[in-house]
Amino acid sequence: MEQTNRPTVIRTVDALREALAPTRRAGQRIGLVPTMGALHQGHRSLMDRARAECDLVVVSIFVNPRQFDRASDLQAYPRTEEADLQLVADAGADLVFAPATDEVYPAGFGAEVRLRGPLVETLEGAHRGSGHFHGVTTVVSKLFNMCRPDVAYFGRKDAQQALVIAQLVRDLDFGIRIETCPTIRDPDGLALSSRNSRLSPSERQRALTLKQSLDIAAELVAGGTTDPETIIAAATTVLSGVSLEYFALVDPRTLEPVSSIDRPVLAAIAAEVGEVRLIDNLTLLP
Ligand code: AMP
Repeated sequence: MEQTNRPTVIRTVDALREALAPTRRAGQRIGLVPTMGALHQGHRSLMDRARAECDLVVVSIFVNPRQFDRASDLQAYPRTEEADLQLVADAGADLVFAPATDEVYPAGFGAEVRLRGPLVETLEGAHRGSGHFHGVTTVVSKLFNMCRPDVAYFGRKDAQQALVIAQLVRDLDFGIRIETCPTIRDPDGLALSSRNSRLSPSERQRALTLKQSLDIAAELVAGGTTDPETIIAAATTVLSGVSLEYFALVDPRTLEPVSSIDRPVLAAIAAEVGEVRLIDNLTLLP
């Protein structure tokens, strides 16, 4: 039986600290699932994992303006709080932390947390600009300090983001365990994303070609093809009606391009379908 009661919704940092204090004092484990809302079964899978592993599960919902490189994307980002609260209740998570923008970034706010190096400069960093990951690392640092979880859960759908956050935690000694969970897809292969709700039926059909291109790359690698250029050329031919930003074959830990495929490699794609920018990735095994 799924729960139908509403989770406790907290809007301020003070109230969050107060709500978490008894759990922390009791030495119990706090799990955090950071999200930007418009929740779907991908987010739900992170909550389920947190529920299984932690005593208290916090889901944060905050559309972080600092990680958007385009004002139009921020403005069009779906916001569905009532439905989100129901999904969180069904998952049996304990608390929703949904602060207003000025609770996170009050007047006079001046801090920024930046990583340097290839992890933030390649792929999404190169295409959306370095400010994207600076926005991510700033807000995630704040959420970690506000909530001080024992474990935080992220999705492999945003593989680069998960690597960036793992480095952030190492570099700044946050002492938080980072768990990265598998990508949840619709039955036709489309990776679940809050942005999918903005696709028209025909755009949704075109969006499927992203996963198809990853699957072609996977088949070629499994069949023994080792040359990245050959694989990328074959994989990108199935893309149809989308504007490709990148299709890259990279080392799954460093995200550096590989010159020959003799071990697992990450295939990562970003493309615009109409007005909607989508990303996806798959680990390919030789
Ligand atoms: P977002 O709300 O898009 O910022 O995502 C919040 C978290 O959910 C991030 O760690 C994402 O990687 C993760 N996530 C988003 N979509 C999926 C998916 N289809 N499968 C698994 N995790 C996902």
